[in-house]
Formats: sequence, structure tokens, C-alpha cells
Amino acid sequence: MDHKILRDELSKYLDGKKDIFFHFKGRVSLYAILKAMKIGPGDEVIIPAFTCVVVPNPIIYLGAKPVYADIEPDTFNISVSKLKEAITPKTKVIICQNTFGLSSNIEEIINIARQNKLFTIEDCTHGYGGTYKGKANGTYCDASFFSSQWNKPFSSGVGGYALINNPDLLPAMQALEEKKENVSLLEKINLKALIIVRRNFLNNASYFLMVRFYRWLSKNKLILGSSSGKEISSVNKPKVFFKGYSNIQAKEALKNLKNLDQMLELRKKNAQTYSIFLKEKGKNHVPMTLFENHSFLKYPLLVKDREQFFKRARHKKIPLGDWFISPIHPVNNSYHLWHFDPQKFPTATAIAKKMVNLPLETHNTDKVIRFLTENLDLIEGDKL
Ligand SMILES: *Cc1c(COP(=O)(O)O)cnc(C)c1O
Repeated sequence: MDHKILRDELSKYLDGKKDIFFHFKGRVSLYAILKAMKIGPGDEVIIPAFTCVVVPNPIIYLGAKPVYADIEPDTFNISVSKLKEAITPKTKVIICQNTFGLSSNIEEIINIARQNKLFTIEDCTHGYGGTYKGKANGTYCDASFFSSQWNKPFSSGVGGYALINNPDLLPAMQALEEKKENVSLLEKINLKALIIVRRNFLNNASYFLMVRFYRWLSKNKLILGSSSGKEISSVNKPKVFFKGYSNIQAKEALKNLKNLDQMLELRKKNAQTYSIFLKEKGKNHVPMTLFENHSFLKYPLLVKDREQFFKRARHKKIPLGDWFISPIHPVNNSYHLWHFDPQKFPTATAIAKKMVNLPLETHNTDKVIRFLTENLDLIEGDKL
């Protein structure tokens, strides 16, 4: 029942489209889409060289090979020229991504895919609620997937869903619905605990305490982290991976979706504040020309000495994010397991070394701006 209501609510941000399938996490939705596209051994799937490790994982689980394409430094999304170079006779799918909520050059990517008879998938885990040239993020490609993990556009604790735009994929997606395993009782209890803890403790004052507590829980395997240890240290599929979306998740999603418009507005307003400030100071920033369409999840900033920058931020209690401090976040060794060679992707690798994220869900950007003003020496200039 909740799933049906949730589907209707979600479709309001997806231009009314309703072919939505729910899964335990976004990565599981990606796995389902790839399976519906019949991806298997011998196939290649092109992905940005600046993503989360849970994106190459399902490709590898299916016996296919992730092939990376370097990114554009302004949008952090796949470079069209690098994408063309990455296509081989084995390529079956191109995955593009709304990194930090910024849209990729999606029309061009779709044209390239058409010319080469390839499927396209949009990784909308950051971009739900945004649009590109008047159409909702997630509605351009053959399929798209979303995440409602706790720090994605809206939260259901953990969670994922797929939107299917190409009707040829629907029968296979429907058949896969029967194969989904139920979320276990233990997982439901964990999830409920996580939701309650976050609701009650997560405010700015206790942010750092909360982060420490959360890390301790994850370390002791008491909580469903965003990426459990094994998924970031190996390419073996977890024993039970293809799981559904429980009622607890659907209820939490419905509750948090109510605040989405307000959150999108706040994030965009804050992003604007940062861009105006950084531009005036001659520092790197998200260009204003990219603002219109975006759903802003995190604000990316490149700094000269990240360790020092984080240290100073902790001291001033500025909750910086650390998304994409690795080109296949959060992996920082054994890249070869994911068929990744950092040297082949100089833009993504260089950017990942300098990346921090400014907080967007704050009502106190003055404090952040003050911090930036005091630390201008550590912020990279406008031209990289
Ligand atoms: C979070 C994320 C995912 C996966 O979402 P989960 O729900 O955690 O599986 C995929 N791609 C990107 C870029 C992400 O940031």
C-alpha cells in the first residue's frame, strides 16, 4: 500500500512517469536494470571515472566489465570525447551521472548511444528533483536509478528505486520483482534504530558526535552503513544482495519527501551564496550558468591541502563532506579489482585529491563563509 502511494508521490518529480521499481538500495536497482538489459560476461559498460564503487560492483557481479571515461572538470560528469574513445564492439551500456546534482551533457550522450545502438542509464542518486532543459532528471535515458540512502536528496534510511523509460525493458523488470528477497527482521530493526537515532540526534550541535557514534556503530557492524565493508574491499557479490524495499523504508520516504521542495530550495540558495562568494574571490566554484536545472546535493570545492582544510574545519565545527575524495569513492587502494587505473584518468584523479564538500543543508552559511574567508589560502583558484 505504502509502495503504491510512494510511487505516485515519486512520479510527481519524474514528469508523471510511474514505471518505478523499488529495491533495498540504489545499487540493487542498478543491478536489476543491467539484468533487464541482459548484461553478462563479455559485455562492457561505460561509467564515469568519478563515481561511487557501488556502481562498478553490480556490473562486475554480472560478469561484465566496467570501462571508465574521464570527466569534465566543470560539471564532474563524463566527458563526451572520452566517452567516444571508450566505446568498443563489446560496449552495451553507457551510464551517466548527476554528480552532486549537476546534470551531464545528456542529449549528446543519448545521440552517441543511438548511433552505436547502446542502452543508456542515468545514475540519478544525486539528482532526484532536478531537471535538465525542462525535463525531469531520470526521464532521458532507457532507465535511471535513484537512492534514498540517508544523505541522498531525501531519505528512507537506505533505499533505491529504478525508473524505466524504455518499455522493452518492462517485462524483464516485472519478472525480476518475483526474485526480490525480503528485508530480514534484523535489518528492519537496524533500519528503524538508524532512523530514530538520526531523527533525534542529528542537528548541527551534535553533528560531530553523531558522525563518531555512527562510525563506531558501523565498525562494530551494528548498523547498515551506506557501504558495508565487503562492498568496498572486494568485488564479490554479498550473499543476499537482491533485496526488496520494506514498508519501514516506504513510510520513512513518504515522510521525508514532504520536505523535498523546501530542501531543494535551501540547497540551491546556499549553493548560490557559496558561488557568489567564491567567484568574487577568484576561487573555484560551480558556475552560475549551471544553476537553473540542478537539484544540488553537495557543493564541491577544490582545496590545496585537504588534510589541513579538514582539520581547520573540524576545529571551527564546519561539517564538511568527503564525497568523491577518491575517483571510485570511497576505495583508496586495490583499484585494479574494479578494472580502474588512476593514471589513465588524470582529471578525475586530480580532482578527487583536492575535493571537499561544503554543507548545503545549513541555515548558517555566514559561519561557512567566515571560515572560507579565513582559509582562502587553502582554496584552489578559478582556473585549474
Ligand atoms: C550513493 C550512490 C549510489 C548508490 O546508492 P545506494 O542507495 O547507496 O546503493 C550510486 N551512485 C552514486 C554516484 C552514489 O553517490
